Amino acid sequence: MNKVVKSVSIRIGLDDTDHPEIGCTTEKFDNLIGTIEAELDVHVRERRLVRLWPFAERRTRGNGALGAVVEIPEQDYDTLEEICRNWFSELLSLVEHYPSAKFKPSPCVVISRSPTTDEWYWSSVRGHVDATERYEEVHRSGCLVLSSESIWGVVGASAAVSWTPDNFSSWELIAWRLSSNIGTPRKVNIAAVNELEKLHPETFLNRDPTKGKGLIAPRTPCPVLYGIRGSSQDAVTDAHEWLQKRQDVEDCLRYATHLTNQLSDDHIESQKSGTVISSPDEIRGGHSHVFAFTGRQPVKLVAFHEGGPVNRLLRSLQPGDIVSWAGLISPDGSIHLEKLCLEMQTPRIVGRPLCCSKTMRSAGRGQGLRCSTCGKIEPKYWLSQSANESCGAVQGAWVEPSPSNRRHLARPLSLRTHGVKVIPETPVKLS
Ligand SMILES: [Zn+2]
Repeated sequence: MNKVVKSVSIRIGLDDTDHPEIGCTTEKFDNLIGTIEAELDVHVRERRLVRLWPFAERRTRGNGALGAVVEIPEQDYDTLEEICRNWFSELLSLVEHYPSAKFKPSPCVVISRSPTTDEWYWSSVRGHVDATERYEEVHRSGCLVLSSESIWGVVGASAAVSWTPDNFSSWELIAWRLSSNIGTPRKVNIAAVNELEKLHPETFLNRDPTKGKGLIAPRTPCPVLYGIRGSSQDAVTDAHEWLQKRQDVEDCLRYATHLTNQLSDDHIESQKSGTVISSPDEIRGGHSHVFAFTGRQPVKLVAFHEGGPVNRLLRSLQPGDIVSWAGLISPDGSIHLEKLCLEMQTPRIVGRPLCCSKTMRSAGRGQGLRCSTCGKIEPKYWLSQSANESCGAVQGAWVEPSPSNRRHLARPLSLRTHGVKVIPETPVKLS
């Protein structure tokens, strides 16, 4: 008689193993999954790459955590825990020997046997989370937490465990380099990237057309060969297989596909609108800001030089313009714009009307305009231009930075046509 094996779903999260010059959490997590696969009868249902709050103080590069949902026979749970504990203590002795850096890696693994509150995700993608409070909460919830004395990694690891993929999730296939190649220039020809973009339309952000450069290969000495982003698992896998057949692309060691919150706009609470109440002010480095009134209080909208079209539109605004924006509230309270739209413009005044080839002048208080040549009287008004004529700003059109200057989390305008996500205003708590 066959014994029925009951399987259980386990969620695993990992964060904060990065060092600026060595290693990469994606590769470490792949190593953990590989270790589990070698020792247990496991089905890896899903791998995750979860990007977190871009202003987090301790972030390295993209502030991303890794996660997975795996299925194992119920009786194997203790073995899984032991595998993870052993793997983690080896990781700790490895990172101990890393050269000193501004922030020492603070690795953390969170393992959960049941779904966890998604508040852990929402608070970690939208703002600062106190690591000690999170550590205690995760611990109390019954999850296993593996960490060293420093516990910073618990924020990302618990967020990766609690994130729930939805219709706005996308995929990233990450390919890692052969160890003999790490540290040498990556062989990923730009011609291959250009063709990838054409032949695999369901992949995205492969290149920055405004700069003619590829975006799939990182420029740091980390073990990642490239990452291919796309709308489905098949799309990124097909694109990867196609790239690996080419002579002008380096062979990879391993690869894995991840569900990700990249391009979800999850870091932004909501789109806002208001009236411009100041002239744009340019500060150092081409950064500029303007104040807008939302009906409650003035807010400072900041556009960085790197924001390109957003910065140009902001600098063309005038008091009275009605604008909509999406942006991140920075720790100083200003809003760092990621998308901007001139909804309704105030007229760009160019002067009084002409008569007899001359500008008409006011005939005095309470009177009209008079032509000094023929004496014609007209009511008072200003000649005006549209924002488009005066500075090229198109009313009703959203603008965003070029692909290489956007955050991992930012939803490109091209994908926004598929609908605007209804994002919870406040983090949702599961009862
Ligand atoms: Zn006249």
